[in-house]
Amino acid sequence: MRPDRTKVLYIGGEGRSGSTVLERLLATTPGTCAIGEAKYLFALGIGSKELCGCGRPVPECELWSEVGNRLVGGWDSAEGKGLVDLFAALDRPRKIPATVAGRGDLVRRAREVLADLYPLIAEVSGASVIIDSSKHPAWAYLLAGTETVDLRVVHLVRHPSGVVQSWSRPIERPQAGAGKGEQLMPAHSALEVTVRWDIFNGLFHRLARRSVPTVLVRYEDYVEDIGGTLRASLGLVGLECGGTPETMTRGHGIAGNPSRFADDGQAIMVDDRWITELGRIKHTLVSAATWRKRSAYGYRYRRSEPVVPLVRHATGRAAGTGDRVTGGVTDSDTEGGSGTEGGSGSGSGDDPAVRRSRDRSGVVDD
Ligand SMILES: [Zn+2]
Repeated sequence: MRPDRTKVLYIGGEGRSGSTVLERLLATTPGTCAIGEAKYLFALGIGSKELCGCGRPVPECELWSEVGNRLVGGWDSAEGKGLVDLFAALDRPRKIPATVAGRGDLVRRAREVLADLYPLIAEVSGASVIIDSSKHPAWAYLLAGTETVDLRVVHLVRHPSGVVQSWSRPIERPQAGAGKGEQLMPAHSALEVTVRWDIFNGLFHRLARRSVPTVLVRYEDYVEDIGGTLRASLGLVGLECGGTPETMTRGHGIAGNPSRFADDGQAIMVDDRWITELGRIKHTLVSAATWRKRSAYGYRYRRSEPVVPLVRHATGRAAGTGDRVTGGVTDSDTEGGSGTEGGSGSGSGDDPAVRRSRDRSGVVDD
């Protein structure tokens, strides 16, 4: 590893899996800077002037304005506007295969920009680790091929029926502010979310096999065991976990769930409304279509006990697999279709969550 590369702790996976709250919890650690879904920095943050996590429009926020000045001589410059166009051209579904494969001029130019951007964020913020919760695998593959970035991935998964149910609900986006951005997070169909859940998770397993250090975290575990999750995640970037934080940090995050703007001391709890609210036919179809990965992640079809414990491995390499393990479970646990459905193991760790309540105001649902 080259010492001059910027460490990026990337939260990856399908949306509505709790990434924004996880990012805000991780960002309580000294030496980190949370930048939210950096994938949307140009389109939403600069182009639509949406609100940063700090509450100011992104181009005016102290971090992003300084980054813009030093990167392109100000976001209003021709070069700054050119970056909005560049990343808009790349952010199209048909460009995903080329991005994942690292092919083409657009990808090359984007990586050149990112190679300047991430070290600059570290320099301006004074942080040694950048926390990026872009989630999308294509952005992770971009970063994995960026020369100045030392990428580490927290692969976040959630029961697919919970993800499908969550995406069926449109949610207001306070970050749209007075900007031109969408006022609602769009709802998506069960079919679209199911296919994406499978593809996204598969791409993160593939990235882990390409030697990108990765830890798998289940949404349902981290909400119940925040301290253990933070230890495993921060271990990826060589940072100590200072225990379970009492509050969350807002940071300078782009886009994400409205929980980015929630009270810093808000209670945190699992959103399990899908167990009673998702229709039986939809649950059955989603469960069947995702069977292989779902069961390997320890997610059952049976709603009375939808999540079973997974065996955790000690830090190091899992015997016989060659997979990197820094806490949580190995890549091979999930990709091998080993079928832990109905299995057993030592589950969550020993730290209590920050504050939990049965009050729905604290539901983690990103
Ligand atoms: Zn800001």
